Amino acid sequence: MSPTAVVTGASSGIGAATAARLAADGFSVVVGARRIERLRAVAEPIGAIALPLDVTKPDSVAAFCAQVPGCALLVNNAGGALGRDPIAESDDADWQAMYDSNVLGVLRMTRTLLPKLVASGDGHVVTIGSIAAHEPYPGGGGYNAAKFAVRAVMGVLRQELLGQPVRVTEIDPGMVETEFSVVRFGGDESQAAAVYDGMTPLSAEDVADCVAWAATRPSHVNIDQIVVLARDQAGATKVHRRS
Ligand code: NAP
Repeated sequence: MSPTAVVTGASSGIGAATAARLAADGFSVVVGARRIERLRAVAEPIGAIALPLDVTKPDSVAAFCAQVPGCALLVNNAGGALGRDPIAESDDADWQAMYDSNVLGVLRMTRTLLPKLVASGDGHVVTIGSIAAHEPYPGGGGYNAAKFAVRAVMGVLRQELLGQPVRVTEIDPGMVETEFSVVRFGGDESQAAAVYDGMTPLSAEDVADCVAWAATRPSHVNIDQIVVLARDQAGATKVHRRS
């Protein structure tokens, strides 16, 4: 029987590409997100099961995980950034929302699925962090704080699970062209497009490739961390633009 992979935040971007790649690599895939119609459109062509999921809501996480038959791979991908305000003008609600989805979302999903990951005999938790977990940058305050926290959580988890049959991997991408910037800028498509002006960002498939590679190493090999940037990006804010 093929191992089951759960991918959170799979209605677009990295999550959707990861679900497709894992299905192609032979996993049975269960995907979750809030926009259920978009999620179904991702799931149907790849033969995945689509279930509604809001990682900020404990009841939603519990209902989702109860329907997951077994789990060998959990990809914690749901999350994102809200705003680019300097700390002096930051909005509490944005910071709380980012912490809730990026950090507590990872906690809720991992804690709930851990018994199934252990029971699989060869479990793996892969979490999508960010270059923002390594480098603070102006306007990144709330997102930096959340992704630095995710990195800490993954470091703790790796040590706490030592001796259990569960691997722990953090994948930290730089700029990836998805809906990430549209969400960050409150739906402003032109502001979002300007982020990638004159440079070639990573694609969602590039990050899915990292997830699939980490997940398909032999069981005794734990890829602790992958930091992956476009050739045109050499740091959180160091970007080469041709125009
Ligand atoms: P995206 O296209 O905006 O996708 C984000 C996904 O997360 C969507 O499927 C969204 O689905 C889901 N999501 C958001 N909040 C959720 C919640 N409360 N419960 C369940 N699902 C939720 O952006 P992306 O670039 O693929 O982002 C995926 C991950 O990569 C995020 O953790 C992000 O921080 C990280 N990342 C992105 C970049 C980048 O440059 N794009 C760089 C580094 C790291 P619904 O809205 O349907 O729920």
